[in-house]
Amino acid sequence: MKKIAKILFPVAVPEPFDYAVPAGMKLAAGDFVYAPIGKQVKLGVVWDMAEPDSDAKPRKLKEVLERKPCRALSREMLKFISFTARYNCAPLGMVLRMVMRSHKALDPSAQAVMYTKKDTGAHVSGLSPARQRVLALAGDAWPGRVSELAKLARVSPSVVSGMAKAGLLSQNELPVDPPFDPPNPDIQERKFNLSPRQITASEELIELVKARAFHVALLDGVTGSGKTEVYLEAAKQALRDGGQVLILVPEIALTQAGLRRFSAAFGAEPAQWHSQMGDAARRRVWREVHQGRAKLVVGARSALYLPFADLGLIVVDEEHDTSYKQEEGVIYNARDMAVVRAKLAGATVVLASATPSLESLTNARNGRYAHIVLPERPGAAIMPEVALVDMKDHKPDKDCYLSEPLVEGVREALARGDQALLYLNRRGYAPLIMCRACGERLKSPDTDSWLVEHRRTGRAMCHHTGFSMPMPSACPHCKTEGSLHPVGPGVERVAEEAKRLFPDARLEILSSDTAG
Ligand SMILES: [Zn+2]
Repeated sequence: MKKIAKILFPVAVPEPFDYAVPAGMKLAAGDFVYAPIGKQVKLGVVWDMAEPDSDAKPRKLKEVLERKPCRALSREMLKFISFTARYNCAPLGMVLRMVMRSHKALDPSAQAVMYTKKDTGAHVSGLSPARQRVLALAGDAWPGRVSELAKLARVSPSVVSGMAKAGLLSQNELPVDPPFDPPNPDIQERKFNLSPRQITASEELIELVKARAFHVALLDGVTGSGKTEVYLEAAKQALRDGGQVLILVPEIALTQAGLRRFSAAFGAEPAQWHSQMGDAARRRVWREVHQGRAKLVVGARSALYLPFADLGLIVVDEEHDTSYKQEEGVIYNARDMAVVRAKLAGATVVLASATPSLESLTNARNGRYAHIVLPERPGAAIMPEVALVDMKDHKPDKDCYLSEPLVEGVREALARGDQALLYLNRRGYAPLIMCRACGERLKSPDTDSWLVEHRRTGRAMCHHTGFSMPMPSACPHCKTEGSLHPVGPGVERVAEEAKRLFPDARLEILSSDTAG
């Protein structure tokens, strides 16, 4: 009887489907295969192998059509996909889809005839400006195709091929997707510009990386304390040990300026990964990561689902950042999943932040994570004093919203000649308008959202639909005059109270209603 392959497809299915393995085909978990699903033939992944159930009536199973001759997904990756699906209540197939971002990346790169400057050593003189432009470009970039070089140098393709015939350019059959330059962990003088505390912190991380086992470290240091320099030392160690390094950064930090610190530290551009990449760039990075050739990847959250061959270190920079949470499709938090990925890979994960999330801080304080604290840099601004005022203990008067400790604080600041900022996330005068006679709450037409009183403009507004009307003098429901009462504070109401409390202070309201 034929063996059974359980095949998962990158579509919204909760589990793999059973297929018969044709005689002579050797399959193992992780292999990429083509199999019929519905009326289509799709590329899927062998999730598991099973022996046919000899007792049951033989089932009529469709057969696997072909095994794709390429590197399989690792056991570790299959486990990571399973965990992600289970933990985040997502269909297994949709998580596989996040992983299979480029089918073409499974094939070796296409080859093309590429042109580079021939290194003759001799100075070539008497060239036309067009030929000079081609030569300059062909000298410092990855070899290009005729069309690319011609376009960049603004010449016709015949100029390029003519130069090859004249022996100025050499022609080679080369991959279209170039490999990434290997990062060099020893290009910078070690500890060249690190403070003593940064050195001990980086040594703690290096020890964890060297152990080549699962560890989590929270790198907790205020802005300017040099967290990046410290985790880069750990990255260098992982690279020296031959592992791959993934540095996750918030999407917003993936700019040329943001990436420069990584290129500078390793003397090579890291592979980049983010959601807005084109097909060619995506194919190149995926393939190089899968083959284990791309050693250093800097990416946004989805880079966590690249098929790393040998992950040695994951860094989650700005680990508290909300952009690590994916809110659509498969909903997951990349910071949490990074810890799981590192555990499956037996790797170290460094969570770095100036303002760690409460979850990470709790784990560090409970001893589950190593807690590496970088004190503030010398000369940095002193941290503000933060106090929590429990409004149950300091109840303001009726229809007032500022507590006694807050009023005292403002008074002290004003007495010193300083400024004070009262911050509230509500526009307008009051977030709710209620009738004292009948209890009616003014609502926006056709919705359930309350109208917000704006006293500055004398209107009642809906902040969701944009509906607005002049503030009525009588209740629209029971018609009682003067019965409408503002409930709760908006910035205008707090400003009114502050004006009463601090009559001599110059006061401004700043919100999207007052600032254009
Ligand atoms: Zn009323």
